[in-house]
Amino acid sequence: MILRGIAASDGIGLGRAVCLREINLDYSHIPYSGREAEKARLQAGIAAFARRTAAMAAEIRERVGEKEAEILTGQAAMLADPYMRAQMEEAIEGGACAEAAADGVCTMYAGMFAGVADEAMRQRSADVRDMRRRLLAILLGAEEPDLSQLASGSVLVARDLTPSMTVGLDKENTAAILTETGGWTSHSAILARALGLPAVLSIPKALAFIKDGDRLIVDGGNGAVILHPDEGTRSEYRRRQEAFHAQRALLAGYRDRPTVDADGRRYRLCANVGSAAEARAALHAGAEGIGLFRTEFMFMNRANPPGEAEQYEAYREAARIMAGRDVVIRTLDVGGDKAAACLDMEAEENPFLGCRAIRYCLARPELYKVQLRALLRAGAEGKNIRIMLPMVSCVEEVRAARALLDACKAELEAEQRPYDKDMVMGVMIETPSAALIAGLLAKECGFFSIGTNDLIQYTMAADRGNAQVENLYSVFQPAVLRAIRHVIAAAKEAGIPVGMCGEAAADPAVIPLLIAWGLDEFSVSTASVLSTRACVSRWQGCEADKLARKALEQSTAAGAEGCLRAAVETSRGQAPPA
Ligand code: PEP
Ligand code: MG
Repeated sequence: MILRGIAASDGIGLGRAVCLREINLDYSHIPYSGREAEKARLQAGIAAFARRTAAMAAEIRERVGEKEAEILTGQAAMLADPYMRAQMEEAIEGGACAEAAADGVCTMYAGMFAGVADEAMRQRSADVRDMRRRLLAILLGAEEPDLSQLASGSVLVARDLTPSMTVGLDKENTAAILTETGGWTSHSAILARALGLPAVLSIPKALAFIKDGDRLIVDGGNGAVILHPDEGTRSEYRRRQEAFHAQRALLAGYRDRPTVDADGRRYRLCANVGSAAEARAALHAGAEGIGLFRTEFMFMNRANPPGEAEQYEAYREAARIMAGRDVVIRTLDVGGDKAAACLDMEAEENPFLGCRAIRYCLARPELYKVQLRALLRAGAEGKNIRIMLPMVSCVEEVRAARALLDACKAELEAEQRPYDKDMVMGVMIETPSAALIAGLLAKECGFFSIGTNDLIQYTMAADRGNAQVENLYSVFQPAVLRAIRHVIAAAKEAGIPVGMCGEAAADPAVIPLLIAWGLDEFSVSTASVLSTRACVSRWQGCEADKLARKALEQSTAAGAEGCLRAAVETSRGQAPPA
């Protein structure tokens, strides 16, 4: 049986299930022993909570990192808040025992955080629930599951992976993690990645299907869990696991290195993210900056678009996390296959060719200005935010966006609010028209980023999501390769930096072409950062040049891809530089 969930942390784990069912926190049998006695019990419980949390935070700081420890210290700080404590004491005054008081107030806060639109604030709801569970366990003297001594090959199956569970976790004997809740940016995902454990999240009712001792295979890279695998499947996955470990051991050495090719030419290697939390994971994974922050995710699954304050917080948080490294934030890229119910978008005959991305935003200056103001303000502190325009197809769009940006600056100036006066604005090259007029666009902006996902689709007139035209949708199509080469050359001639943030930037067969043509920046998914750095390091400029010439001589995508993949295989055999 195969269960599917969110691929949250790469790697393969084989083992037997250890189901973490909720401990019994029922306090209905606890009598009310009077105001003073209950308050004293509450105080003692809170003090014990603070002591244990400080010890756990110290341990996690040492074993995992400061950011992860902050999740725990944040809980302790919340509980130390006199207002929260006063609310609990008020409940005790009203006749609640210490457990009921703690439960009531924590549940109220968790509900409050869960209801807000901001992703980071919503995450605090999980923290408060964790805090409630631990405080109740302390007050009731209930045993927390001891994860410090596990049998070898334990696969943890839990409703959610909480920060407190991971402290003292017997990592050596943990094969993998799977949970019923959580997304890519949830704390569970961040912690699993930080611990380097394979994880698949959001498998509905996993605890109903899986029992203690069941055999499991967790494929964290593909978001799949195999329940009761047979011997053949197990040995196949053991083989894949070995290959993964060998590859990872090799790649770990690239984490703190600069991104250089075999001639020592330097590149910038950034990550593509969809939230500030993901930026943290990217930094941890060795990214040198954020090359694409997709802001449209903030507009999805909600009733109203995020306001200036919410956007400002999210962008500033990402900028702070990246501590001086560039953070390229793409303005709202809705339309096509990216729907946002909170926005008024008319149904169109051809949505991919319709009023989407920059076109949509320019048609709604009031909505767009909210984002531009938030970006300008968020850049005031670190001056490391860059704005990027999606789906540009003509110079007028860049000028119109700049005019709106100038109008926002004038407003902020008049309001005497701090903002980044020199914020650089770049253009995504995703349409054939933008590629053809790259020379003209380069005079209007500070940088280019090539979005191959869309550039392929529009150049080949082949829907990126339609399997029937998959043969046409290829970065190796001669037209696409020429478009990329032309854009890089135009940027070089104008003296502006050029990056690539489409998925092709992480393809080992495309990398030598980008080296040959002079790309400055690669921006890839967090999981591909180290493999991209390793791949870049294998190429010498002259070898890449030769290969690029050969690839461009091919008149078909299959021909170009064939010669590139064959050359990559040969380069793989070479030892990585010391
Ligand atoms: C692209 O089109 O290459 C790109 C990076 O943007 P998205 O995938 O978000 O459309
Ligand atoms: Mg795109």
